Amino acid sequence: MEMYFCPLFSGSSGNSLFCQYGNTRLLIDAGKPGRQIEEALRSIGVDPATLSGVLITHEHSDHIHGAGIISRKYQLPLYATSGTWCAMESKIGKIGPGLRREIQAGRDFYLGDIGVVPFAIPHDAADPVGYRLYGGRLSVSTATDLGHFSRFVYDQIAGSDLILLESNHDPDMLRANPHYNAQLKARILGDHGHLSNESCAEALLRLIAAGTGTVLLGHLSGENNTPELARQVSSKTLLREGIEPGRDVQLSVAMRDQVGTVYTIKEL
Ligand SMILES: [Zn+2]
Ligand SMILES: [Zn+2]
Repeated sequence: MEMYFCPLFSGSSGNSLFCQYGNTRLLIDAGKPGRQIEEALRSIGVDPATLSGVLITHEHSDHIHGAGIISRKYQLPLYATSGTWCAMESKIGKIGPGLRREIQAGRDFYLGDIGVVPFAIPHDAADPVGYRLYGGRLSVSTATDLGHFSRFVYDQIAGSDLILLESNHDPDMLRANPHYNAQLKARILGDHGHLSNESCAEALLRLIAAGTGTVLLGHLSGENNTPELARQVSSKTLLREGIEPGRDVQLSVAMRDQVGTVYTIKEL
């Protein structure tokens, strides 16, 4: 059986990722207005009413903006850690007890046919997680909002068939950005902020060596990065080590405001 994955939206202005295996369809995050998420799903042929749930990574608004609306409208359970629930409850409106699912980093569970492994990530939120999703022996991992790429995160996602990894900013563009104050710059550049293009590229080298065949660069900043630059930094780093994008690995950029490709992952 195949797994399907599609980045509906990915970036600092809103995140929502779709995954399907067997009869189970789910979203990771719902960080755009509900209507935009519904439209994005319909554009890839998915009826939002057929979703089984929404996995939340953390309480920042670019991850939860439409979560309450979409949960109430389609009676979708929301899955989040207890720290994330505490921090987001006042922002997403009332969620009935039947739709409130509390999870823990490191404790795997099944959502329908999909095995879900939440893992802790270094980010300045209450109790943020990334996810590895299993469909049989296949797996897809998403790790964005990472201040740094730790050994722990590597261990959680290494060997996944597809990985969406944060390539948030170009540090020079960020430092030169006149719209960001010093405090915000320090936050983004810090150990619990966001992953730069360079750090992402170095992490990809290790992940590709561990067997990952498809990598997506995600959670790009709108002001401190461009899709071309993110791709260029990763491509250059991979080529330096003799890995050719397009031949040895599939490398793409998940766009901020444009529904991405639906990736089909099959057993070889
Ligand atoms: Zn974010
Ligand atoms: Zn965040």
